[in-house]
Amino acid sequence: MALRSAVCRLLVNPKRCAIISASRSQGSAAPAQKDAEKASEKKAKASKVQFNWRDGLELEGQLTEEEIMIRDSFRDYLFHRDIVSEMGELGVLGPTIKGYGCAGTSYVAYGLIAREVERVDSGYRSVMSVQSSLVMHPIYAYGTEEQKEKWLPRLARGEILGCFGLTEPNHGSDPGGMETRCDDGKVRGFILERGMKGFTTPKIEGKFSLRASATGMIIMDEVEVPEENLLPKVSGLGGPFGCLNNARYGIAWGSLGAAEFCFHAARQYTLDRIQFGVPLARNQLMQKKMADMLTEITIGLQACLQLGRLIDAKKAAPEMISMLKRNSCGKSLDIARQARDMLGGNGISDEYHIIRHVMNLEAVNTYEGTHDIHALILGRAITGLQSFTVNN
Ligand SMILES: Cc1cc2nc3c(=O)[nH]c(=O)nc-3n(C[C@H](O)[C@H](O)[C@H](O)COP(=O)(O)OP(=O)(O)OC[C@H]3O[C@@H](n4cnc5c(N)ncnc54)[C@H](O)[C@@H]3O)c2cc1C
Repeated sequence: MALRSAVCRLLVNPKRCAIISASRSQGSAAPAQKDAEKASEKKAKASKVQFNWRDGLELEGQLTEEEIMIRDSFRDYLFHRDIVSEMGELGVLGPTIKGYGCAGTSYVAYGLIAREVERVDSGYRSVMSVQSSLVMHPIYAYGTEEQKEKWLPRLARGEILGCFGLTEPNHGSDPGGMETRCDDGKVRGFILERGMKGFTTPKIEGKFSLRASATGMIIMDEVEVPEENLLPKVSGLGGPFGCLNNARYGIAWGSLGAAEFCFHAARQYTLDRIQFGVPLARNQLMQKKMADMLTEITIGLQACLQLGRLIDAKKAAPEMISMLKRNSCGKSLDIARQARDMLGGNGISDEYHIIRHVMNLEAVNTYEGTHDIHALILGRAITGLQSFTVNN
């Protein structure tokens, strides 16, 4: 697999090894007493930690070598146009799946990839999330062995692109009201293929958000789906909710990547731009905004890391995912709007990219459970009382 071999190549990178061995040798004790005193003085000085505004709580130090390498290979890579098919070649579609041509990474590594992808554009991350969590995950979790063999390797290579249809025109936040029915009347998962009679997927035009990835309608009119395309291992809304939880976790990391881009861009812009004879960044109001951005991003990333570790240990609850999807999206959207303001008129120009992130994050805050719907999920967990409907 391309991803694995990229990781292996980075693991034997001689420069990196030199840095690691140098930093280890600094820790060795001096032989003589004088030297020991000098060394302890030096040590005291060295232990004064330099604050890193790009990594406020030393996230880097909490990652494994492999996670850092997977992340770095994306940080350098992400400026190509044909990103989706190239992502397939690299093996990051369905990255947590074991076997079937997938990389089998940790959930933390998946989150780190989402963060790097969304730093560029939420549309790219959406494609990756849908393919990985809403298409490959259900086939992997609820499909037969034949379905897995047939679909997963091609989806992993990016040879074919999948999509996920749950929302209906009259039922978005409340999928329980779904009107689409199959013969047995239950909620079931099906794999549909373009070309089936009665099945069309027209593009939704006029979208001001996530313009890098097309969104389509799924129209089904008496479609005959063969038995072999039914996902047999799940029935009811637990199926789609399981997929959504998977995707929401990636969004929690990803949206913070977009926020980081906006924060860094606003910092640089206000350092460079002179108004009233000084850089805008010398202004206390600007510094307060940046302090708030750094704080929210840093705390948000720590929370995502903890959640990723819990998912990897199979100890995560859906409410935890709701909490972080909601927090990351809400905070990132706020940061992006603030950054837009800090760039003044240039903030609305695509040349500076921030307005594109603002528009994207509006959709990211809404899809996969709106900000308020996740508040209701948390409210139910806090009080034991559901407030979605007037019924008990
Ligand atoms: C770019 C984009 C891509 C999408 N991709 C997909 C996809 O691939 N597959 C898919 O199935 N769907 C997709 N969606 C749909 C998305 O998941 C829904 O838009 C979302 O779930 C919200 O549903 P809705 O738009 O019907 O809003 P509604 O459910 O009508 O909600 C409208 C407003 O009412 C609020 N609200 C709803 N119920 C309550 C309540 N009980 N109490 C208080 N407030 C409430 C909501 O928070 C929201 O603010 C996509 C949406 C967008 C914008």
